Amino acid sequence: MKKQFRLVSLLGIRPDIIRMGKLLNLLERGQAANGYRHLYVHSGQHYDDSLEGIFHRELGVRRPKFNMGTGRTLKKRAKTGHVYQAGYLFEKTAQMIERLRPDAVLFLGDTNTVLSSIVVAKHNIPVIHVEGGGRSFDWRMPEEKNRIIIDHLSDVIYCYLDRYKQILLAEGVAGHRVVSVGNIIVDALEKFLPAARQRPILRSLGLQPGKYALCTLHREENIENRQILEEKVNGLRQLSRQLPVVFPVMPRVRARLRKYGFTDRLKSPGIILTPPLGFLDFLKLEAEAKMIVTDSGTVQEEALLLGVPCLVTRRSTERPETIAAGASILAEGDLFSNAQRVLQMERHWDRTVLNPLGGSPSERIYEDLLNRIRSGYFAESRCLAMLQENSFVREAYGLTQRSFKRPLPFSEEALCAR
Ligand code: UDP
Repeated sequence: MKKQFRLVSLLGIRPDIIRMGKLLNLLERGQAANGYRHLYVHSGQHYDDSLEGIFHRELGVRRPKFNMGTGRTLKKRAKTGHVYQAGYLFEKTAQMIERLRPDAVLFLGDTNTVLSSIVVAKHNIPVIHVEGGGRSFDWRMPEEKNRIIIDHLSDVIYCYLDRYKQILLAEGVAGHRVVSVGNIIVDALEKFLPAARQRPILRSLGLQPGKYALCTLHREENIENRQILEEKVNGLRQLSRQLPVVFPVMPRVRARLRKYGFTDRLKSPGIILTPPLGFLDFLKLEAEAKMIVTDSGTVQEEALLLGVPCLVTRRSTERPETIAAGASILAEGDLFSNAQRVLQMERHWDRTVLNPLGGSPSERIYEDLLNRIRSGYFAESRCLAMLQENSFVREAYGLTQRSFKRPLPFSEEALCAR
């Protein structure tokens, strides 16, 4: 009997569950009808209930089969740096491979969890990357290294937009490995915005629609450096004299604020500090805000989709399309005066730019994955026949174009055309 194809989805942080909710459900539901097995694994990079458990419950995503417990274990060991995280993840990924024997492993985004794709690839197991091709071209960003590593290890890369596909092709990634599908965050908003609109969070926090700013900060460049964090805190204080600022604070950020002695500075009448919120409450706050200040990639996209102007308070971004659309401004310094620029912005940008093809990006990924599983793509994705167009490959194998022709078990052209 033919062995059932086993696909593992290995995710690790809050936005992974939000973005992948629809695709995970499609993958779970389609197993019996399509003869594959899907196993959802969590790395445990985020482990606090407010960053993990609540998203499974609220978004109706079945809990993972297996949790590697990365964050919790390293916290206990008091060794939470990048290197310890990678080391632990590598070991746990190798154990996961031994236990689950996947035929392919799917990752999302640019977190440290995606670094374990190297372990998967070294076992000659195909890697699938959703959210490929994003580049900030800012080498100081820890995520930039993760993005480059996983894309070059991947057998299939799902890009949000054609511009990302172009970046990958320019880096020499073979065209048959890249598909442009639209941004899966549109699926999450489409599904959860109606329920979010019903949430009473504005009333609970004493806010009025269109009369407050919403802020999130978590990126290393903003929270690890004392001086930069101080500038952000002072900017938020200044802004809060103009309009109330709601700031859901992640555990790591709370720890940095405490460490640098800035907690009291945020205890100001115009600043509402909350723990990290569930997606529905947060989405409601985003949708009704006058403006958003963030260093999050996902929040930047959500602001565009919701029609709310956004200050991206960072050095660089891997999502320049929100700026090109006129929905956000990128500015690393002077949070207050840049917020004033954002408050002046027109709100008439094109909200379809994140999904130019329309329809559901998650469904497109699902259909493409099914085609590839059925056609035997993953058994062949790195074979010589697939790479024969590349002159370096031909040289490396001492082949001329004439001497090398082998029919593929599926239509490569058809896959690339999609
Ligand atoms: N989010 C949330 N609660 C919060 C803050 C953010 O549900 O208190 C959601 C937000 O709507 C977005 C995602 O979390 O979908 C963004 O996550 P984060 O900023 O941690 O990650 P990034 O996008 O920067 O990788």
